[in-house]
Amino acid sequence: MKPQVIIIGRPNVGKSTLFNRLVGKKLALVDDQPGVTRDRRLGDAEIAGLQFTVVDTAGWEDDDDLTLPGRMRKQTEASLEGADAAMFVVDARAGLTPLDNEIARYLREYDVPIVLVANKAEGSSGESGVLESYSLGLGEPVPLSAEHGEGIADLFGSLWPIIGEKAEAAEAGAAAFAEANEDEDAPLGPLKLAIVGRPNAGKSTLINRMLGEDRLLTGPEAGITRDSISIDWQWNDPKSGETRDIRIIDTAGMRKKRNVTEKLEKLSVADARRAVDFAEVVVLLLDATQGLEHQDLKIASMVLEEGRALMIAINKWDIAEDASGLFNGIRAALDDGLAQVRGLPLFAVSAKTGKGIDAMLGAAFDLRESWSKRVPTAALNRWFDDALDANPPPAPGGRRIKLRYITQASTRPPRFVVFGTRLDDLPKSYERYLINGIRSKLGFDSVPIRVTLKSPK
Ligand code: GDP
Ligand code: GDP
Repeated sequence: MKPQVIIIGRPNVGKSTLFNRLVGKKLALVDDQPGVTRDRRLGDAEIAGLQFTVVDTAGWEDDDDLTLPGRMRKQTEASLEGADAAMFVVDARAGLTPLDNEIARYLREYDVPIVLVANKAEGSSGESGVLESYSLGLGEPVPLSAEHGEGIADLFGSLWPIIGEKAEAAEAGAAAFAEANEDEDAPLGPLKLAIVGRPNAGKSTLINRMLGEDRLLTGPEAGITRDSISIDWQWNDPKSGETRDIRIIDTAGMRKKRNVTEKLEKLSVADARRAVDFAEVVVLLLDATQGLEHQDLKIASMVLEEGRALMIAINKWDIAEDASGLFNGIRAALDDGLAQVRGLPLFAVSAKTGKGIDAMLGAAFDLRESWSKRVPTAALNRWFDDALDANPPPAPGGRRIKLRYITQASTRPPRFVVFGTRLDDLPKSYERYLINGIRSKLGFDSVPIRVTLKSPK
């Protein structure tokens, strides 16, 4: 169950507007028709990944049988039941009224944590109202403008300590439920693997080798797209002794099947592109006798730009000359040539002898795991706070850049959103500092991650 947050306040302070803002849709009507008693409206709200149910009580005050304070009290009592937090909204432009003071007085009688919201605080005309609202004795007000969407991020800062834990538990519960009901395309299904590379790198030979005698071939099947071939097979992982499902896309077979006449070099990029659409993990196969060439980096960049997990295998290791020089050279060229990631998994293999293939496949499963991983918001922000402490953002021109928090917006590939203000002034070097921190401290080492900066507006 998601945490429930109730919006409370006297008429016209902007409760419905705030509700609409949080839910992101025009669910609650904003109207001034008196005498219409409406039901409580529930909506799914989200601020920066924090998910909760928001309850709009606007309209409850229109109950003819009671005086306005009486109606407010009734509204409050009823709605606070089962609530994890209440947002008490006041109008920063109009300033406090006796009714605000009265609501504040009886709100303090309840155990429910209160977040004081000073709405209509856009521009400067709300400043005195914001200051005045401290006198309610409900702590620091969050100034915001529901209508213009300003200050919503600060609301996160106030709500998170109250409902963050429950929200996260609900999210984990929902994820566990989804996982239990997942189909084979989801993370626990077969590993979707593509082998790409220049012509003659040994792709067909490698696939044939992998599907060899000790492996159970469950049948080539025409698949995913019109002109691709996928093969399901079971790999015996010698390390764990387990059998693991892999679905491999056979781009080489694809090419043979289509009987193409296009130039082979051009084709390997096109093949890779198609394979990338299908795959979770892409193995870029190099030829030990050729080394790393521009074309390889081009394919590698494309795979990373598409957000797929990438690993590199140097094939024909059985005939490699100066093996360790070659390996180290390719390692350095990859780190130089692919700024997006560091330390891509690099393997020496031989499709001919079978050397290194099991190690490569084991690593492919590990890589998929990082690529699919979600870091809980609390842990993410613990790391974030430490990273900011260790190396605070700069203050160009004496004006401090404020970074407030971070959330992981998605997985496969992992995407993160950093919220703050004056982000336009944040140097690229600081962005890289954060990205490197996410990689090395949160276990996304060689996975392509995305970080977006967002000013809450
Ligand atoms: P409710 O009765 O508390 O639900 O208030 P409403 O959401 O219906 O808003 C009352 C009036 O205040 C409407 O005319 C809104 O457009 C206006 N309003 C709401 N939020 C803001 C805000 O942030 N700034 C300004 N200037 N007006 C707002
Ligand atoms: P593809 O175009 O990438 O599918 O490459 P192929 O699988 O057709 O292989 C191209 C050539 O390299 C063939 O002559 C293979 O026999 C050879 N080859 C592939 N893998 C190896 C290997 O590991 N060692 C050696 N020595 N030759 C290999």
